[in-house]
Amino acid sequence: MPRAGNIWRPEGMLRKSLMVNELWDEMPEACANDPGRRPRQCFRRGQSLPTFSAMIGTDPDELGAHVSVRGGVQHAPARAGDVDAVVLQLFTKQPSRWAEPTIDDSTADAFREAVEQFGIRVAGAHDSYLINLSSPDRRLWRMSQRSFEAELRRCAQLDLDFLVTHPGNATDGDYQAGLERNAVGVTESLQAVEGSTRVLLELTAGSGTSVGATFDNLRTIIEAVPYELRSRIGVCLDTCHAYSAGYDLVDDYDGVWSAFDRVLGLDRLGLIHMNDSKHPFGSNKDRHETIGEGTLGLEPFRRIMLDDRLRSVPKVIETPKGDEEAAADRANLETLRDLRSGKSPTGSMTP
Ligand SMILES: [Zn+2]
Ligand SMILES: [Zn+2]
Repeated sequence: MPRAGNIWRPEGMLRKSLMVNELWDEMPEACANDPGRRPRQCFRRGQSLPTFSAMIGTDPDELGAHVSVRGGVQHAPARAGDVDAVVLQLFTKQPSRWAEPTIDDSTADAFREAVEQFGIRVAGAHDSYLINLSSPDRRLWRMSQRSFEAELRRCAQLDLDFLVTHPGNATDGDYQAGLERNAVGVTESLQAVEGSTRVLLELTAGSGTSVGATFDNLRTIIEAVPYELRSRIGVCLDTCHAYSAGYDLVDDYDGVWSAFDRVLGLDRLGLIHMNDSKHPFGSNKDRHETIGEGTLGLEPFRRIMLDDRLRSVPKVIETPKGDEEAAADRANLETLRDLRSGKSPTGSMTP
């Protein structure tokens, strides 16, 4: 726990540099002139996340996997290709260390060539687990902001389409201040690094003091990011986290997505993490399971795969890989494809 003197809240900073309460002035006239429409339509109008245009079309499909960068990031596209994925997610560094590696130009070139060679349509990164942009500890927050900025810089260097981030922990229990600090961290990083990489705030499972386990939390962060940066920020919905956080994709599938659309707007959805869960509904626990073998079961995944509204949203599995990484990923992706085509899933690990 940070000492009291260390706890900070970016009130003055937010008002001054982000003009959170004056944001409406920067909005399109139609919104600014119509106070009745402010909260919802103005949040969405003209600021939504552009669709990943590469995902429009049905062949190949929009499925992908989180793949290893063993031997260097330039080897990741081949691993995605090996499991018939056209979407990939990777770490651009060791996710449990603070060290910030730089990527040299020849590695970046080799990565981009491999992306072409293996037909990767959408490529992105997941940020380090140590980053906590909601931290009330000023020093840890600044370390996190610098680290997140470095993540974004590596993404820009590799021409990555997205950077998924967990909103972090408000370890002092003041969630509102945590969300505000998160928005400041994301804003400073986006201002420092230009490029087309979109920051995707991942819905969390809500364990401990983590923020970002509700659609409202994610909206609060996005709303506190200045208007002109908001087309560079979106949301990643992880099915395991959502179920653990109390969004019942099993018994209230339509209700969950209408809540998402009402609060955030479906056009803000940049990515879905397709993971089953080892823990029950509402458990706030984050342990992924093979698709169809966990507490969500096959049905919510079948509905997602057949949901036209979600068809062009890239979907990445982060399911357990066991000893046979490629075989496990192939089996999970095959399960999803079988669910879409109406075949009974055969993607089990056992022959
Ligand atoms: Zn994650
Ligand atoms: Zn995830």
